[in-house]
Amino acid sequence: MPSTSTRPLGGLTVADIADLANDRAQWHLDLVLSAHVPAPVCESLEDCRSCGGPIPELRRLAVAGCQRCIECQGYFERKGARYAG
Ligand SMILES: [Zn+2]
Repeated sequence: MPSTSTRPLGGLTVADIADLANDRAQWHLDLVLSAHVPAPVCESLEDCRSCGGPIPELRRLAVAGCQRCIECQGYFERKGARYAG
């Protein structure tokens, strides 16, 4: 007669429960990923939209969709989006 103390949850072992949880988590992950449509990434601008100055190519490559030079982006982020323009 096996002890019931190791199977307190309807005959499921902790490993069984972990498997179920993993299956459930994977199912949810698949669901979320299948529903996910990646946001369109705009092209990086060659000229800063705030000051019109050139944006270095390395910055444009490193920051997908960047729209401002480093100085203006820093100012923009400090001031918040309401000063966008
Ligand atoms: Zn700028």
